[in-house]
Amino acid sequence: MTNEQKTQELAALDKAHFIHPTSPIKQQQEHGPSFIFTEGKGVYLKDTNGNKVIDGMSSLWNVNAGHGRKELAEAASEQMKTLAFTSSFSTFSNEPAIRLAAKIADLSPGELSAVFFTSGGSEANDTAYKLARHYWILKGKPEKKKIISRNNSYHGVAMGATSATGLKPFRDFTNSLAPDFYFANSQSAASFRHLVEQEGPETIAAFIAEPIQGAGGVHPAPENYFKEIRQICDEYGILFIADEVITGFGRTGTMFGMEQEGAEPDMMCFAKGVTSGYAPLGGVVLSKKMHNDFKKLSDGVLLHGYTYSGHPMSCAVALENIEIIEKEGLQENAAIRGKELTQGFKAVQARRNTIGEVRGKGLMVGLEIVKDQGSQEKFPTKQAPFLIAEAAKRGLICRSVVFGEQDALVFAPPLCITKEEVEKVIEIMEDCIVALEEQVLKKY
Ligand code: PMP
Repeated sequence: MTNEQKTQELAALDKAHFIHPTSPIKQQQEHGPSFIFTEGKGVYLKDTNGNKVIDGMSSLWNVNAGHGRKELAEAASEQMKTLAFTSSFSTFSNEPAIRLAAKIADLSPGELSAVFFTSGGSEANDTAYKLARHYWILKGKPEKKKIISRNNSYHGVAMGATSATGLKPFRDFTNSLAPDFYFANSQSAASFRHLVEQEGPETIAAFIAEPIQGAGGVHPAPENYFKEIRQICDEYGILFIADEVITGFGRTGTMFGMEQEGAEPDMMCFAKGVTSGYAPLGGVVLSKKMHNDFKKLSDGVLLHGYTYSGHPMSCAVALENIEIIEKEGLQENAAIRGKELTQGFKAVQARRNTIGEVRGKGLMVGLEIVKDQGSQEKFPTKQAPFLIAEAAKRGLICRSVVFGEQDALVFAPPLCITKEEVEKVIEIMEDCIVALEEQVLKKY
């Protein structure tokens, strides 16, 4: 069978049987999959046709250590051969889960010190909401149940996580959501204070935020925003949850994003980069105070747990992955390469007229596309989809974000990216911007 025949066979089966997550179902039926990947090495992916592309998104912001890491495959294989699975429910335990919990407690900022494991980020966030509410029940304040999130946020697709997601299209996908979720303006701590005072602090359990909004288009918070949020939460007895599902494990240039914000959360959700995507895993880290209160006040069973909470193989992979991140200094590399990527894009912005803004931190970078830099006027139709198609033709995968007014491209390459690979990303993007200006701009 030739590569072409194999691609055709797989594309037909894909269309007939594979419902893709977060996907344009009609377009998939018309065109089939754009890439059927077969191999990965470092920042590169290869498909069935032999095309080699740069994974400019670390796939789903998660392949932090890069593709093709034999050490991670070996850690998984060793663990599966000795003990593939066992329960963590009740009083059962296993060594990789214990060691990983201790390691994450050690790496986490400040007083965060006890870990509840899940299979991914959505489950981590739902766990945080439930633990926050259960906490207030134990503290004798069962009326504290509202969760405040932010506009333009993304927290996943479980029912609680969807209900907390500020990006409206995700909430509109279904016609009934979980109750008691509210939204504050994403750029203003004063808006949060106002909402708390309006709803009544005695009814509010927790506030959740991404240190940098990711799926919403890469938006860092204003300076001192999280310090003010922490103060308001302390003033009114509200738990502060950091959703570090994207920002955790080195992505922003430090091990966790909140380290750069001068605010310490009561709970921190993680997933993605904890295993660099080599195995499904997520979790919530609780502060020592919350953990102590649970230990003191709970005499029943903690009735929350997933079959795969503390999965031995996923935890063994995570331990090896964290060792790679630390040994190779990948968070420092993210800081250095992130600066180069941002500066490179700013240089392109200075040479061209259709990049309105370059934003981000570490290896989370966003470009806002405009028709005219001077006036910041937008194109009448969104151009980010044109640009990602052009980038794919030239061997680079990145993502478009077109929620609301945005017409943006986002980048989050593996943290092991080299200086030369960063230069290649910038070069490809400049070619795409030139194509936009030559082929599209003149029509307007
Ligand atoms: N929180 C954030 C900030 C995310 O970016 C994501 C996924 N992109 C999630 C939660 C959900 O994680 P998962 O897809 O693993 O359920």
